Amino acid sequence: MRTLIVLLTSILMASPLTAHAQDNRAALEAVAKALGAADLKSIEIQGGGAFFWAGQSYTAGRAWPEFNVRSFTRVVNYDTASLRDDMVRTRALEPPKGGGPYVRGEHTAVAVLSGEYAWNVVGDAATPAPIALAERQFQLWSTPHGVIKAAMAGKGTLQGRTIAFGVPGSFKATATLDAASLIERVDATLANPVVGDMAVTVSYADYRDFGGVKFPTRIRQIYSGFPALELTVTEVKPNAAADITVPDAVKQAGNPYVKVTSQKAADGVWYVTGGTHHSVVIEMKDHLIVVEGPLNDDRALAVIKEARTLVPNKPIKYLVVSHHHFDHSGGVRAFAGEGVTLITHDASKAYVEKVVAAPATVSPDHFAKSGKKVAVEGVRDRRVLTDGTRTVEIRQIAGIQHADDMLMVYLPKEKFLIQADAYTPPAPNAAPMSPPSPFNISLAENIKQQGLAVDQILPLHGRMVPLAELHKAAGVTH
Ligand SMILES: [Zn+2]
Repeated sequence: MRTLIVLLTSILMASPLTAHAQDNRAALEAVAKALGAADLKSIEIQGGGAFFWAGQSYTAGRAWPEFNVRSFTRVVNYDTASLRDDMVRTRALEPPKGGGPYVRGEHTAVAVLSGEYAWNVVGDAATPAPIALAERQFQLWSTPHGVIKAAMAGKGTLQGRTIAFGVPGSFKATATLDAASLIERVDATLANPVVGDMAVTVSYADYRDFGGVKFPTRIRQIYSGFPALELTVTEVKPNAAADITVPDAVKQAGNPYVKVTSQKAADGVWYVTGGTHHSVVIEMKDHLIVVEGPLNDDRALAVIKEARTLVPNKPIKYLVVSHHHFDHSGGVRAFAGEGVTLITHDASKAYVEKVVAAPATVSPDHFAKSGKKVAVEGVRDRRVLTDGTRTVEIRQIAGIQHADDMLMVYLPKEKFLIQADAYTPPAPNAAPMSPPSPFNISLAENIKQQGLAVDQILPLHGRMVPLAELHKAAGVTH
C-alpha cells in the first residue's frame, strides 16, 4: 500500500477526525463493498472490440484512426500500482488513413506501468515510455476498483454520488456512482503535451459478478470528444497473478527525451537526433528556423538548447510543424513559450491556434508558465522563406493519407528534403515493405510532380539517406 499512498494525494481536503470524514469513509467502504473491492489485490480482464489512436487523426480535431482489437488482456496490480495491457490488433482500414504505426495484418502492442515507470515491450525488448506515464496512471486508477482504492488510499472524498480522486501532475477526475453504488462514469482532465488539459471520459455498463467481484462488461473511453476504446469484456479473474516488475534497462534509462546528438548536414544545417524523433536546425542571416518540435517539453527544450549552442547569437524565429500528430507536435507549446512563430499547414492553423490558447492546469508546462502569445502562420501549397543568402521552401505533401496537413521542407541549394512519417528508412539491410507503403509512394510522387531535385532525405524518424533509398522503398524504377 505504500506505493498507493505515495502516488495518490486527494485533491480535496480531508480531516480524518471529523464526523464528516467518518461518514465519508463509511460511504467509500459501502462503494468498495458493492464492487467487491475489499479483498481485491489484482485483477485480470480479457475482451475485444475497437481501439482508436488518440492524437493520430487524419484531420486535426477529428476522429482518431480505428484499429480492430482481436484480443485485449489487462492485468492490474493495485498493491504495486502496476498495469500491463496486451493488445492484438489490426488496422480497421487498409490502406490506412491517419497515423499510428503502419503494420500490415495482426500485430501486438504491450504497454506497461509500474509506479513511476512506463514502458513498452516489443519482442523481448523493453523501451522506456515516460511520455505515457500520466495516461497509464489514469488507465490504472480509473478502473472501477482503481477509483475506490485511489479514493480510500488518498483520502478521496465522496460527495453525493461523485468521488473526487487523482494523481497530482497526471490527472484529476470525478467518478459517478449509479443507483447500485457501482461506478458508471469517470470524467477526467489528463495532462497532455500537445493540448495541455485533455478531457477524457470513461463509461462503464452491464456489470456482472465474477466470483464476488463486480466488473463492467462494456467499457467506452472518449478522448477529446472522440472514441478511444470500445471494449466488450468477456472474462475477469479477481486476484490473478500480477507480478509486474520494472526491467533494469527501464530503471536505468534516465530521461530519453533530453538526449540530443547533432550532425552537421551542410553549412548552417544540422540534423538534430539522439532519440526517436528528430529536428533540423537551419541558420539564416540573422535568425534560425527549426523544423519539428516533437514529443513534449523535455524534448523541445533540449532541441531549443541545442540550437542555441550551435548558433549562440541568433534567435529562433520559426518552428515548422510537419503535421499535427501528437508525437510530432508535442513540443509546439514549448517553442511557443519561447515566443517562436509557428508555421503549419492551413488545414491545421485553427487547431494549432487552439493548442497555444489552451490551459494546462494539471501539469503546468513551459508555455503555461511563460504567459506568451504567439503567431501561427499557415501554408497551403508552398511558402518560401528567404533572406537573400538562403532559401527554405515549405511545401505540402499533397494527397498523402497519413494526414491532410503534411508539410515537407526543401532546401534547393543543398538538395535536402526534410519530412516526417511519409518515409521512415528501415534498418539498412531490412527488406522493403511489399507491396510498398502508400505513404512512401505519395512522397515519391510529390517529389516528382513538384519537380524537386533531391539528393538526401533528412527524415524526422530514422536516418539520413539518399533519394535512391526512397525510390527503392516506393518501388520506383527509372
Ligand atoms: Zn504522423
